[in-house]
Amino acid sequence: MSTAPVRIAIVGAGPGGLICARVLQRHGIAAAVYDLDTCPGARDQGGSLDMHPDTGAHALRAAGVWDAFRLLARPEGEQMRLVDRGGRVVFDAAAPETGHANPEIDRGQLRGLLLDSLTPGTVRWDHRLEHVERLEGNAHRLHFADRVTTVDADLVVGADGAWSKVRRPLSDAVPLYTGVTFVETGLDDVDVRHGELAALTGNGTMMALDDNQGFIAQRNSGGHIRVYVGMRTPEDWHRQAGLDLADPAAVRDALLSRFAGWGRDLLRFVTDTDTGYTNRPLYALPVPHTWDPTPGLTLLGDAAHLMSPISGMGANLAMRDGADLAQAIVDHGTVDEAVIAYEKILLPRSIEAAHAAAEGIDGAFAPDSAEHTLAHMTSRR
Ligand SMILES: Cc1cc2nc3c(=O)[nH]c(=O)nc-3n(C[C@H](O)[C@H](O)[C@H](O)COP(=O)(O)OP(=O)(O)OC[C@H]3O[C@@H](n4cnc5c(N)ncnc54)[C@H](O)[C@@H]3O)c2cc1C
Repeated sequence: MSTAPVRIAIVGAGPGGLICARVLQRHGIAAAVYDLDTCPGARDQGGSLDMHPDTGAHALRAAGVWDAFRLLARPEGEQMRLVDRGGRVVFDAAAPETGHANPEIDRGQLRGLLLDSLTPGTVRWDHRLEHVERLEGNAHRLHFADRVTTVDADLVVGADGAWSKVRRPLSDAVPLYTGVTFVETGLDDVDVRHGELAALTGNGTMMALDDNQGFIAQRNSGGHIRVYVGMRTPEDWHRQAGLDLADPAAVRDALLSRFAGWGRDLLRFVTDTDTGYTNRPLYALPVPHTWDPTPGLTLLGDAAHLMSPISGMGANLAMRDGADLAQAIVDHGTVDEAVIAYEKILLPRSIEAAHAAAEGIDGAFAPDSAEHTLAHMTSRR
């Protein structure tokens, strides 16, 4: 990187944007991060993530936070269990005895860890990007909702997730419904209050998938189990059923009706909820998603390659993208040369992963979901 100062604006304080800012700062390059959240704890950050060696874990090492991560990580959270629709365990792989191959961490803890690693004031909260304006030369201007002030930058990094505003000048692509919806629910203080469901879930993730639907229960820290009730279904399934999503009893009854005949313990993930139900239709960008190199603008993470979560790769890839982009900026004379080099790596990697994720969700929510998932897990052993 030449010594001339460049203005780098990263939009989005998710795992990808924060890793990018941190790796830049470790090399003495300043970057500001803008996020629409009003503060770090403004919303629930979601479930547990396992860090894969070549992507998430690689990025944590590049960011110099691997040791801090290991203090929070739950290696035992790697346990993977398959259960049939009656509730009988048919596959169970405990975490590797060596530990730390793909250790788990709660998303909120990961975000906190990365925020703590940054120079204070790096993240400007309560900045909702509305649009990006092209200026003379290669610079761009960021316009934020409800703010008169704008920000000019030599490089704008779109780390702003699925519905990225930075993506718009680069590509016409929009996320499309995958055909699968998760209804999220959760149980608190499980070892004391929900002992049987805690035992069924184990220390990591339990999946019971069959005939286009199923349960994914995932142990988080603090005695919480996050449950995704997955269904291949029209996006407006609740409207078709005349269902008010704000009415928990109606949602519960609709789910119980869909899962009639499934084992009693599995149904208790629905009935014994402590959190109510959140409808989460799953979206993905079309595959392949590419764009022409554009001076002053690039994307990382979900903004570049939103894919179904069943592969468990989205956050890992976002972090690797953030680390690779930062390293490219360190290694090249100008940010535009860096972006070209970064995108040469990013795009093929994203296309390969997005194909795998699309196949993954199609297999997991198919008529033969149970056989497919068991064969997949057994082949990975
Ligand atoms: C149910 C579910 C389970 C998942 N499980 C896993 C898993 O096990 N492993 C895994 O690797 N991945 C998983 N994923 C995928 C993972 O959550 C995403 O791929 C990952 O969060 C992407 O990171 P990111 O940094 O690109 O974007 P995000 O995490 O989406 O962060 C984007 C940030 O940008 C901000 N933002 C958005 N719009 C604006 C705007 N206009 N202006 C300013 N700020 C903005 C947001 O507030 C947010 O902080 C899962 C996803 C889902 C839905």
